[in-house]
Amino acid sequence: MKHRLFPVVFFILLVLSGCLSAPPSGGGPAAEEGPAVRQFFAMDTLMSVSVYGPQGEAAVQEAWEVLTGLDRLLSRTSPDSEISALNAHAGDGSWVPLSPETAELLSFARQTAEDLPGAFDCTIAPVMDAWGFGGEDRHVPDAAALSARLALVDSGRLSLDLEAPAGRLEVPGMAVDLGAAAKGYAAGLAAQAVLEAGGESALLDLGRNITVLGEGPSGPSWRVAVKDPQDMERHLGVLSMRDQTASTSGGYERYFEENGVRYHHIIDPKTGYPAESGLLSVTVVSENPALADVLSTALFVAGRDEALSLWRSRTDFELVLCGADGVVTVTEGLEFDFRGEDNGYTCQTARR
Ligand code: ADP
Ligand code: MG
Repeated sequence: MKHRLFPVVFFILLVLSGCLSAPPSGGGPAAEEGPAVRQFFAMDTLMSVSVYGPQGEAAVQEAWEVLTGLDRLLSRTSPDSEISALNAHAGDGSWVPLSPETAELLSFARQTAEDLPGAFDCTIAPVMDAWGFGGEDRHVPDAAALSARLALVDSGRLSLDLEAPAGRLEVPGMAVDLGAAAKGYAAGLAAQAVLEAGGESALLDLGRNITVLGEGPSGPSWRVAVKDPQDMERHLGVLSMRDQTASTSGGYERYFEENGVRYHHIIDPKTGYPAESGLLSVTVVSENPALADVLSTALFVAGRDEALSLWRSRTDFELVLCGADGVVTVTEGLEFDFRGEDNGYTCQTARR
């Protein structure tokens, strides 16, 4: 399904190029010079980094190094990664040395599982493999085999020594998959690298995780489209963002069909089957890119009511929830920063 990513990037490039003809207002970045841009494939997705300002090229290079470096550490499919080493030693009692970044991300993912039990677990890998996600042979698994794999999903049995740093999976057959968390965490470190390199404003598009820094090319904020999960050519609406990340999870990007039924890649850790919460997509907007990524996946599994009750309990993220019932719920922090399109959905604002 990789080609499905192109419309997003294409749209963003359209936004950028469309804005190039309009000079920035209020002393914004030097839009007339255009951004330094690099596109590349990492973390199983097409990434694009665009940075404005005189240090644009250097900042893009720094971001690329951070993102490809993290990909080498965190990839489950590359045999040399730290995650592959951790998985290979599951159950043998040995501590596997980790870089501080891998350890920090694992710790964050484990904490997310604790905060949202039954919605998120980074030890979901055995179940992903049972479905063949990540490979060519995707299929509905045998129920007994699936429940055996599901018994291995428990990030409480991922031990971490953050001082060393090192990690250990306590049960043979356990395995970590950071597919729901790595891109957001990487976006945070790449954004930091861009700023340290002197990038003035930037757009990091890491496949459904969009991070913006500084002013947009045509004004103080960036305009980022949220796709309609039922029609890739259309948008639910447009977000107005500044120094934030928008992460979207949905069942519409990566899936296969068997006997006329569609099976997507976001798994309910309570059942081992693709999540069916009544939501078609979840977009999380936050100043914390790692949080945006994990929550978009977790809240897609959890469903609208649980998502809104978590939102009411904290102040560090906002939501756009698209339901199969045709209702788009936007949390009140986005009331003036999300412009819905006339697309047949009923839009409602959630209040605290
Ligand atoms: P994408 O990576 O396609 O943008 P997500 O951020 O929602 O979408 O992550 C989906 C990926 O996360 C899956 O491919 C799988 O690797 C992993 N995953 C699936 N279900 C869960 C879950 N319940 N908890 C944690 N990780 C999951
Ligand atoms: Mg995610």
